[in-house]
Amino acid sequence: MQQEHLFKVLVIGDLGVGKTSIIKRYVHQIFSQHYRATIGVDFALKVLNWDHQTVIRLQLWDIAGQERYGNMTRVYYREAVGALVVFDVTRASTFEAVLKWKDDLDTKVSLGNGKPVPAVLLANKSDQSREGLCSQLPKLDTFCRDNGFVGWFETSAKENTNIDAAARCLVENILANE
Ligand code: GDP
Ligand code: MG
Repeated sequence: MQQEHLFKVLVIGDLGVGKTSIIKRYVHQIFSQHYRATIGVDFALKVLNWDHQTVIRLQLWDIAGQERYGNMTRVYYREAVGALVVFDVTRASTFEAVLKWKDDLDTKVSLGNGKPVPAVLLANKSDQSREGLCSQLPKLDTFCRDNGFVGWFETSAKENTNIDAAARCLVENILANE
């Protein structure tokens, strides 16, 4: 019997960290230097033939414009089952914002059993120099454990590095909650 799942996944993090680029790369296999910061919420669908019995439709929710306020409305978070929390390795302030985003996520949505939704941390723009953050990356295992992330990946939307792996990790954790 074929199984189909529809999963709402949020992509959150500060302005300019590469959220839209990651979604475009993952869903449409493209990268551009210029994405217009449209205002509102946008979403894209990625269909994964997970295994012989399972088709997964990932609905990836992008935010545009509102991330400068550092939090989102409950409507945006409603019924999400997972999140990608993104920072930019070239800007330390975006890493500092990660915990604020995680906190916003955990206060506004949780699973039916009350557990937090799985979140994967993305250290994006890994094709660039990691100014100021070189000392942080080796500590990310501990950071993730301490702050409830299920894992972390160094990604590049530009070079298509680790985006599939990060999404796969998130889906595995979402399925474990089914
Ligand atoms: P958002 O505000 O989080 O949606 O960020 P965008 O996706 O709009 O990206 C902001 C800028 O960073 C754009 O100029 C992108 O081209 C650039 N960018 C995004 N991801 C990467 C990446 O992996 N490497 C590099 N070098 N630039 C990136
Ligand atoms: Mg964007």
